Amino acid sequence: MTWETLATGANLTFRLDPEDEITGKATDEHPVKLAINSCSIGGVPDDAHPDLFAVAAWTVVAPWTRKRVIFDRAISPQLAEALHSGWGVEAGPVGAEARQAGRTLAVSYSGGADSVAAATVYPEAPFVHFRRVAHTRVPNRWPHYRSDVLAKLAAKTGRELSTVNSDLEFTLAEPRPGYPEHHAVAAGALLLADQLDLGGLGFGYEIGSRWLGGGRYLWRYTPDNPMWSPHGVWGRLFAAAGVHIVLPVGGVSEAVTMRLALSSDLKDQVRWCLRGTDGPCRNCGKCLYKELIQAAVERRPLDTPITADRPIARKYLRKPPFGGQEMIEYGLARVPGIENTLFAGALGHFEATEESTSWLDHCYPRAIAEIPAQWRDQAAAFMSAQVGMMTEDEVRRVETWGS
Ligand SMILES: [Zn+2]
Repeated sequence: MTWETLATGANLTFRLDPEDEITGKATDEHPVKLAINSCSIGGVPDDAHPDLFAVAAWTVVAPWTRKRVIFDRAISPQLAEALHSGWGVEAGPVGAEARQAGRTLAVSYSGGADSVAAATVYPEAPFVHFRRVAHTRVPNRWPHYRSDVLAKLAAKTGRELSTVNSDLEFTLAEPRPGYPEHHAVAAGALLLADQLDLGGLGFGYEIGSRWLGGGRYLWRYTPDNPMWSPHGVWGRLFAAAGVHIVLPVGGVSEAVTMRLALSSDLKDQVRWCLRGTDGPCRNCGKCLYKELIQAAVERRPLDTPITADRPIARKYLRKPPFGGQEMIEYGLARVPGIENTLFAGALGHFEATEESTSWLDHCYPRAIAEIPAQWRDQAAAFMSAQVGMMTEDEVRRVETWGS
């Protein structure tokens, strides 16, 4: 790993070892193919702690690395140990003192409903927004992705905001430009951690991502989720660099994050669709999924131009299991007139009722318990006041999900 620091930010270049492979696996086991061995992260300082540089680099190169990783500046023994115990790689050189966690919690802010909901739990938290920019050496075949629109919306929130421009998603050739690891969205925040005095970084991952299999380990309760649990490989690595992973809405469903986001003072800046300029496009798969949730939350009929013959509609009409299934069940049970919509065909796959899906309106207590102590009480008070905690029966619904 070589970091070149410039007045405009930092450039990462990496070289694979002979045993490394061009197609690797991200922590969620999804295969990812390498496109190019360089990327840039704009607007970050050149004097961040070496462990921060190392973790930022690791969020990019982890899928392709097999046995060892050599950084251009010495890391702490604690960080080397987290890399070794987590991934089995030898990391070095070792020789720095560990970074102490700072006092501030920032929110990794995307502008989507989950991210906005996480932000409402901590109204004083500054935002770090990752903005995709084109790579100088990789053609951009995805110009419909309006990262400029999202960045403008983030700037209108009134929060203290650091926008990090990065082309790191273009290190990925397949399946398409994107984060090599989900944690790469935090690369800029990590490099800003000393400057912002960060001790924690909040993400908008909700109960489905954290506890119900994360969309990839389908239909399975995942207390030991390797990506987002504090004791998982990434949780330990971030903690070793003094930036704890915090999931303010990790105990609630997308119905709750939708309700919180659309009733918050950031509601005018919420945007989950990456295609539209003046508003969501209403025509993509994500818009359809979110419309089902929003209609359920607002107790109104579905409002979509999408018809059942479209491929994006068929995706949600398959037999279970599939990612986001709990929210399809929630929507089917609650949207008036759902039997007259494109979702009619899905009704036969489920026996969802309001009662059988009511656990998705409450907060799973273990999600609050795993928030670091300095930020836990605020999240607990927020969830008690705004959402309500799950009963024992509802907790059992989470812990027996899919079984
Ligand atoms: Zn859309």
